[in-house]
Amino acid sequence: MNQPFTHGGAAPYTSAASGAVPIVYHPEYVTPLPDGHRFPMPKFSKVYELLQAEGVASPESTYSPEAADANLLACVHTPAYVESFLSGTLEAKALRRIGLPWSEGLTRRTRRAVGGTLLTARLALEHGIACNAAGGTHHAHPGFGSGFCIFNDIAVAARTLVDEGSVTRILVIDLDVHQGDGTAAAFAGDPRVFTFSMHCESNFPFRKTAGDHDVGLPDGIRDAEYLALLDAELPALLEQVQPELVMYDAGVDVFAGDRLGRLQLSLEGIYERDLYVLRECRRRGIAVAGVIGGGYDHDLDALAHRHCMLHRAAAMQAHAMQARNLPTQLQR
Ligand SMILES: [Zn+2]
Repeated sequence: MNQPFTHGGAAPYTSAASGAVPIVYHPEYVTPLPDGHRFPMPKFSKVYELLQAEGVASPESTYSPEAADANLLACVHTPAYVESFLSGTLEAKALRRIGLPWSEGLTRRTRRAVGGTLLTARLALEHGIACNAAGGTHHAHPGFGSGFCIFNDIAVAARTLVDEGSVTRILVIDLDVHQGDGTAAAFAGDPRVFTFSMHCESNFPFRKTAGDHDVGLPDGIRDAEYLALLDAELPALLEQVQPELVMYDAGVDVFAGDRLGRLQLSLEGIYERDLYVLRECRRRGIAVAGVIGGGYDHDLDALAHRHCMLHRAAAMQAHAMQARNLPTQLQR
């Protein structure tokens, strides 16, 4: 296999614009935070810059999202919460639970990222795979934000698509190290969206919200064990749920060196995980919208490199599908 894990090597996934995986990005994904804040905000632009440098993203394959408005957000969130956050009147206690200081820039950032995941999902339905350079704010509940998550991009995108009838059945595959409690809460009682979360059981949120299928992992597990557990769950779930679209949260806080994770996956393990999820979906003809999810490291370049595994795996998978289809195209 080629080595997509290192900087500077030949990129096997560099492809012409025609076969490139759509990448969704907007400069507003980044807004300044106070010095020393523990949320790694600049990672979003670093991810996109790295994808460009590697040829995974190009101007032709980059899509710019609209900002989600209050109406769109209200398909998941309570109008009172949406209104108070957007207007800067959310009470201090509720803001502390989010863990980010309010600013106009932050409202623009969060609205743009939600719009980004919705666009990513639409592009996935059109192209098979698409990835956001942000997204995965899965701790945002309908009536409150939590754990750096304000509005739930995965939930807003999924609810919008089923409400408008673009798809009838969606599977959320949440492999961030933290449980997708907000997404689970959003779809309790909505059978159109099935929520699957595989996470570190002892990690945040300490009070879990039951989703449709939750797998809590013990601390410290490594690549082989993790991938075997995923393989024991995912194919059966895809057969059971029969989704037309998968929303994939590819959080990299499962990484061994992550500041907030408690698992021990390697970089190669993360790439294998992402490629496995994409392959299992695509071989069944299921569209996949990928979002980057959580990842925490003081070294932002290393962190961006880790998050890019999703987009690299997506490019690799799209390339493999294209190669397989080539003989049919040549016959025409
Ligand atoms: Zn996380």
